[in-house]
Amino acid sequence: MESAWKKARATLEEEGWKFEAFDRSLSWPFTAKPVTISKVRGTLYGVAVGDALGAASEGRLPRELVERPVERPLPHHGLPAGTVTDDTQLTLALAESILQTGTLDPEDLVQRFVALAPSLVGAGWATRQALERLGRGAAWWLAGSASAGNGAAMRAAPVGLFFEAPDAIRKAAFLQAIVTHRDRTAVAGAIIHALWVGWLARGGPADARVLDWLVEAVRGFEKPFPSRRQRRKKRTLAGLLLEAGAYADDPASACERFGTGAFVLESLPTAAAVFLGRPGDPEAVYLRLVNAGGDTDTMAALAGAWLGAHLGDRKLRSRTPSDWWQVSVAAEIERISRLGTS
Ligand SMILES: [Mg+2]
Repeated sequence: MESAWKKARATLEEEGWKFEAFDRSLSWPFTAKPVTISKVRGTLYGVAVGDALGAASEGRLPRELVERPVERPLPHHGLPAGTVTDDTQLTLALAESILQTGTLDPEDLVQRFVALAPSLVGAGWATRQALERLGRGAAWWLAGSASAGNGAAMRAAPVGLFFEAPDAIRKAAFLQAIVTHRDRTAVAGAIIHALWVGWLARGGPADARVLDWLVEAVRGFEKPFPSRRQRRKKRTLAGLLLEAGAYADDPASACERFGTGAFVLESLPTAAAVFLGRPGDPEAVYLRLVNAGGDTDTMAALAGAWLGAHLGDRKLRSRTPSDWWQVSVAAEIERISRLGTS
């Protein structure tokens, strides 16, 4: 991983990217427990259950969803209920790559992603175009799309499970992101997601105390975006994430404040606020997010990873309807979970 990291860093520094954040060492600010098979399984099922549940409402209007909410997995994209989409497909491919190479090897990861490209369900344009370039032989550190979409974050959960130290999680999350998303905000989203999964899977508190720590991990890395409402005001994912805690008790206002689109500045803070409101009530978190409109499958997959990493698979299962667990990748999740904790 170290040589890939140096290669990417040197190339992007020439383009003006700032890497000082990576030179500040990170450590868990609590006594970290080992990651158990229950936490691995919980995280991977958490992603798959949210993704399959949200897939039927992706892109539907919030008012339509108020009249006819999604309450169970439904058929989507011409596929049976419980079929997962790109969020889970890429998450599992990343997990396999890490477990089989024992590191984060962008070359191996790219091969797996390119092989998966024709069968991806509902992939976003940034990922599709990057995979097309990679399939034609483009170098992994050059091929990524200039997109601040949530595609690099949504698949990053395994990095938080299978790398131990926060510094290693941050680098691996960066490398897995850059192959499809050559954008600082998209990469910051992936780092934040992976670190949060790592925090929860090791027994870190499931409350807003995590936010300052996550923000410190990426401070100074992003290039701020103009605000939606006031063009002169700038916003970063880190800045919005710090606000997410204040919206934890009010999910409707969180959706309103941050938005629900595929832009990582929208979907990640919204998912964060909804998760922080009810971290012990996965059914409520999932239902809120899949009925919020916008990029429902990805918001539910992001929060699903946090729910599963926090609760482990038994509590996640006992606190959600059993028909939600009929996901198309159950056998794969079982196999990866055993491999990941053997
Ligand atoms: Mg999807």
